[in-house]
Amino acid sequence: MRTRITLECTECKQRNYNTTKDKKTHPDRVETKKYCKFCQKHTLHKETK
Ligand SMILES: [Zn+2]
Repeated sequence: MRTRITLECTECKQRNYNTTKDKKTHPDRVETKKYCKFCQKHTLHKETK
């Protein structure tokens, strides 16, 4: 069962990525390093609701 999630930059709070995740493999909030074009660097992105 895949759930749509949004990834938000933890530094500038911009929502940069839309993706999906599998709740079985990621039961908790996803945290991943991704490139933020607003920060112009790789930052930690967290799942939002
Ligand atoms: Zn950012």
